[in-house]
Amino acid sequence: MSTVRVAIVGGGLSGLYAALLLEQKGWRDYVLLEAREALGGRILPLRLGRAPSGASNCFDLGPTWFWPSVQPKFAQLTTELGLHAFAQHASGDLLVERAGEGEPRREAGYFSQDGMRIIGGMNALMTALQDRVDLARIHTDQRVCTLRVAGDEIELTSQNAAGWMTTWRAQHVLMALPPRLADTTLEFVPRLPPELANSWRAAATWMAPHAKYLAVYDKPFWRARGLSGEARSARGPLAEIHNASMPGAQAALFGFFGIPAQVRANVPEDILRAHCRAQLSRLFGPEAAEPLAEGLKDWASDPLTASALDLAEAATHGSAAPARAESGAWQGRVTGIASEWSLRYPGYLAGAVDAAERGVASLLGAANSTRKCEMQ
Ligand SMILES: Cc1cc2nc3c(=O)[nH]c(=O)nc-3n(C[C@H](O)[C@H](O)[C@H](O)COP(=O)(O)OP(=O)(O)OC[C@H]3O[C@@H](n4cnc5c(N)ncnc54)[C@H](O)[C@@H]3O)c2cc1C
Repeated sequence: MSTVRVAIVGGGLSGLYAALLLEQKGWRDYVLLEAREALGGRILPLRLGRAPSGASNCFDLGPTWFWPSVQPKFAQLTTELGLHAFAQHASGDLLVERAGEGEPRREAGYFSQDGMRIIGGMNALMTALQDRVDLARIHTDQRVCTLRVAGDEIELTSQNAAGWMTTWRAQHVLMALPPRLADTTLEFVPRLPPELANSWRAAATWMAPHAKYLAVYDKPFWRARGLSGEARSARGPLAEIHNASMPGAQAALFGFFGIPAQVRANVPEDILRAHCRAQLSRLFGPEAAEPLAEGLKDWASDPLTASALDLAEAATHGSAAPARAESGAWQGRVTGIASEWSLRYPGYLAGAVDAAERGVASLLGAANSTRKCEMQ
């Protein structure tokens, strides 16, 4: 078993972007280990082949927006990768359903932030990154279970879906999975310093308690009634509904569930879907009852995103946990690079990019200073 310079644990945006940054600096001696069958993590597409226009018909079951005015580096990355952004459609009225009221009210529509989306959905970002890295370095269906300090190296043990265990050796590990999952699902031998472990456990995984429902239609029929596709509802099951249509692709609406994760867990998915269709039909008209396709992703029931702790509390963009151990056996061995470790945008896509950049930069910086010391 040969030792690689870096093992990246997790193949979401932060892990894959870190792989690209390493390669750009000439560090090709790394592995990326991803537990799921596919890369992307919280970036999850509902793929529907081609739209009648020929455009890619791919919708987001995970993140949707980025905000260039406050996340300029993320916006710059999308441009460098050749992606095309467009503004969230916001013209038309917003519908508001209050508890105990009959007909939904119409209000002047607004989409307060300058939210932008990407043609082809956020999956286009993952595809662009995958096109630029050495796929031979990436191993999916490898769930890392244990990280063990072994002399100057770290030994990682992973398991695939069939139960086969594999051992990997690396000089450094970039942790590209949420800090809370790192603490609650990985075994560190020896243990992480207790303060560090506690801070990782305390960092809520952004959006982990949430679920999204998405319905695809052949046209945005709600616009003929002067509606934007946005709605807020106290009746549910969806609390916040948005227009998910994309230029060139088919029309779509999506909503975040307002029902808590613990309640959703006890309702069969087909019943949840039926309630979503009924709500969309109540709000936007009978055409909404018959989508061409649907998607439902409950992130709270996905153990590669959410832990029991995420279900017990309201998620907030907290302050980032420390990304590395300052003393003990793990000092200089592991660096956290998932979004929740970002100091500037914890929890956001921009945070995954920011944390990966910082993590890779500190790794390269440490390698350069070691080389300088050796030369002196
Ligand atoms: C419903 C929803 C809506 C969102 N909306 C937005 C939005 O509009 N704008 C925005 O900026 N952000 C949004 N976010 C947040 C955004 O998705 C995240 O910030 C970003 O995707 C995090 O990327 P990451 O690589 O840091 O982590 P993740 O995407 O969580 O990647 C972690 C990876 O690690 C893998 N993994 C876990 N455990 C192991 C293990 N033991 N071994 C190996 N691999 C493992 C996972 O499978 C996963 O692929 C949303 C999130 C959700 C769920």
